[in-house]
Amino acid sequence: MQLANRVQTLTPSSTLAITAKAKALKQAGHDVIGLGAGEPDYNTPEYILNAASESMHAGLTKYTPAAGIMELRQAIVDKMKNDHQLDYQTNQVIVTLGAKHALYTLFQVLLNEGDEVIVPTPYWVSYPEQIKLAEGKPVFVTAQEENQFKVLPEQLEAAITDKTKAVIINSPSNPTGMMYTKEELATLGEICLKHNIYIISDEIYEKLIYTEQQHVSIAEISDKLKSSTIIINGVSKSHSMTGWRIGYAIGNVDIIQAMTNLASHSTSNPTTVAQYAACAAYQSDSNAVEEMKVAFKERLDQAFEWISALPGVSCIKPKGAFYLFPNVIEAVKRTGFETVEDWVTAILDEEKVALVPGSGFGAPNNVRLSYAIGLDQLEEAIKRIQRFIERHQ
Ligand code: PLP
Repeated sequence: MQLANRVQTLTPSSTLAITAKAKALKQAGHDVIGLGAGEPDYNTPEYILNAASESMHAGLTKYTPAAGIMELRQAIVDKMKNDHQLDYQTNQVIVTLGAKHALYTLFQVLLNEGDEVIVPTPYWVSYPEQIKLAEGKPVFVTAQEENQFKVLPEQLEAAITDKTKAVIINSPSNPTGMMYTKEELATLGEICLKHNIYIISDEIYEKLIYTEQQHVSIAEISDKLKSSTIIINGVSKSHSMTGWRIGYAIGNVDIIQAMTNLASHSTSNPTTVAQYAACAAYQSDSNAVEEMKVAFKERLDQAFEWISALPGVSCIKPKGAFYLFPNVIEAVKRTGFETVEDWVTAILDEEKVALVPGSGFGAPNNVRLSYAIGLDQLEEAIKRIQRFIERHQ
C-alpha cells in the first residue's frame, strides 16, 4: 500500500513502544518493572471523579463549543491569573484533547512548508514529529549536560535563521527535569523578541517541582513576551488525568481562533465529561496534587541516590517532572554493548526492567526512567540494573 508522504518518515513514540513491550511481557506472566511510564501512578482524585459523574447524570453529554465549555475556559483564565498574575480572555483559550493535541494543532496553524522551529535537545519525543507533520523543520539545539541541560543564549541566537518561526521552551523538562530560572527565561525571551519569533511554552509539569525554585512562565516576564508566547498546559500530569485527554493552549486570539477552526473540523470538541472533570480539577482547592508531589519528591531523592551509585552511570539531579535522565554510556561500554538501545533491550530481556533509550529524546548516551511508581518497585528495579551491570562487567 502506498501511504501518504507525510507519514513515511513518522517514527512511533519510543516511550509508548517500550511501555507496550513491557506490558506484553507482563501479560505473558513475567515480573516486569516498567520505568517507562509517562504518567503518575495515582488515581484521578475522588472529587474529580464525582464531578464527572454528576455532570453525566445531569445530562451534560452533548457536543460542546469546539474551543471547550465556557466554564472550563474561564477556570483556565482564572488559574492563569492566580498562578501567574496573567490576564487573558476566554477567547484566548482553546481546550484540546490533551496537551499533545494542543501542540499538534498549534503547529498545523503556525507553520508553512520549510518554517523552522527550534527544539532544545533533549526534547520530548513528539515535538519533532509534530513539526514535520506540519511541513515544518525541527532545528535541534543541544543543551549540554555540563550546562544542566539548559540551552545557552548564544546557542539559541546561533540557531535562528530567517526561516525561524518559533522556539519550544519546556520547563520543567521531559526528559531531563531541568528548569530555567526567571533570569534565564528573560534572556532567552529577549533574543526571541529581537528576532520576532514565537515562543511555545510547554508548562505541563509546572506543578511537579521539588526544589525551592518557583515555576515561572516566560509569558509573565513582560507584556511583549506574553504577546509572543503560546502557553501549552493541561491536567494530565498535575491531576493524574492522563486518560481524560484534556489540555489547552493560551495566547494570541488569531492563533487560538485558527486552532479552534481546525478543531471544529477534526475533533469537534474534547470529550464533554472530561471537560467537566477538568473544570472540577481547577475549581477545587483540594490538596491531592500536593500529596502526590510529596511522594514524588521522596522517590526522586531516593532513586537519584541509587542511580548515581551505579558503576558507569552519572546523573544530573532533576528539579521537576518525574523522570531521571542518567548518562549511561560508560556502563554500556563496560558491559560490552554497542549502543544504549542494545543495553536497554538486554536489561528488559534479562532483568525484566523497562527503561526508555535516550535516542528518542535526541540524547543517545542517556536513558529515561520514570519514578512514577512505588519506592519498593524502584528499589528493586535499580537492584536488578546493578545486578545486570555486575554480571556483564
Ligand atoms: N508535553 C510534554 C513535555 C509531555 O511530557 C507530555 C506527555 O508526556 C505532553 C506534552 C502531553 O500531555 P498530554 O497527556 O496532556 O497530551
